[in-house]
Amino acid sequence: MMRQVIFTLFIFLILAVFNIDFSFTAQTKPLNNSNKDSLQVISPVIKVTLLGTGTPQPIMERFGASILVHAGSETLLFDAGRGCLQRLRQLKVSYDKINALFLTHLHSDHIVGLPDLWLTGWLISKRATPLKVFGPTGTDNMIEHLQKAFVYDIKIRIEDDKAPEDGSKLLATEIQQGVVYEKNGVKVIAFLVDHYPVVPAFGYRIEYDGHSVVLSGDTRYSENLIKYARGTDLLIHEVAIAPDTLSKSDSRYNILAHHTTPEQTSKIFNEVKPKLAAYSHIVKIYGMNEQEILKRTKVNYSGPLILGEDLMSFSIGDTVSVSAWQK
Ligand SMILES: [Zn+2]
Ligand SMILES: [Zn+2]
Repeated sequence: MMRQVIFTLFIFLILAVFNIDFSFTAQTKPLNNSNKDSLQVISPVIKVTLLGTGTPQPIMERFGASILVHAGSETLLFDAGRGCLQRLRQLKVSYDKINALFLTHLHSDHIVGLPDLWLTGWLISKRATPLKVFGPTGTDNMIEHLQKAFVYDIKIRIEDDKAPEDGSKLLATEIQQGVVYEKNGVKVIAFLVDHYPVVPAFGYRIEYDGHSVVLSGDTRYSENLIKYARGTDLLIHEVAIAPDTLSKSDSRYNILAHHTTPEQTSKIFNEVKPKLAAYSHIVKIYGMNEQEILKRTKVNYSGPLILGEDLMSFSIGDTVSVSAWQK
């Protein structure tokens, strides 16, 4: 077992160092019995899947921000950007299996998928319980108005499609920094990040069975994130890249100023020392080449690092392994 773990880690480091596009399936080990061809799959403690790695840009390659986390018996969704319901469908995860939705902040690229997730998901899965939505100040107001906006559809679906009435409800909880959810051994900790002028904006640390993943949400360089992320298995961080020549008078300068540059993330990764760092919510100002992000991060950071893609998944256990989406 130990040899296999060390070997996996070794291969992983080699691939990461040389930035080779790689994918691992679940870790496997031969069974100690006569059936030598059988393999026993070791389940990850936490499985994380990037549903959308994009920004407000409506592109097919990167859908809106949304990350799915399976930990123990809990299935949790973080942000509901454009296309999150389609991505769940690709993964064969039914909407009625989502135990709770956590919002990092209320920028539209993190929530425009919510009406679709909630209403279409309810109609199709026949979910019979309300969806719990945790988010920053303003979440109550948004949820109340969403329910008003769709009152006609909700009424028709209940009467005509016989959709369960309780499933049409959203239960909003506005959160503060700290533990916001604790169930079946899974703990979700919200922490403040710096996405000024969007205040408050949160990142999340999800813990289960001695392992964890940290999601940055949208933020510029944040000391508080470093504090909450330290020692995590997997850190999924946002990033923004712009030409060196971008000046303060440029209309897009503020986009860069609200996010984290590769030079800043390398500093964060060096402090946090995750087993694996991954980028999601990839902001490319003036069409910068994505590979520049890795190149610029690696100037000062030599740990395992990967540029996230939609439907890429991470299995966290004794090691952290990565699987690209296989059609
Ligand atoms: Zn934002
Ligand atoms: Zn965003």
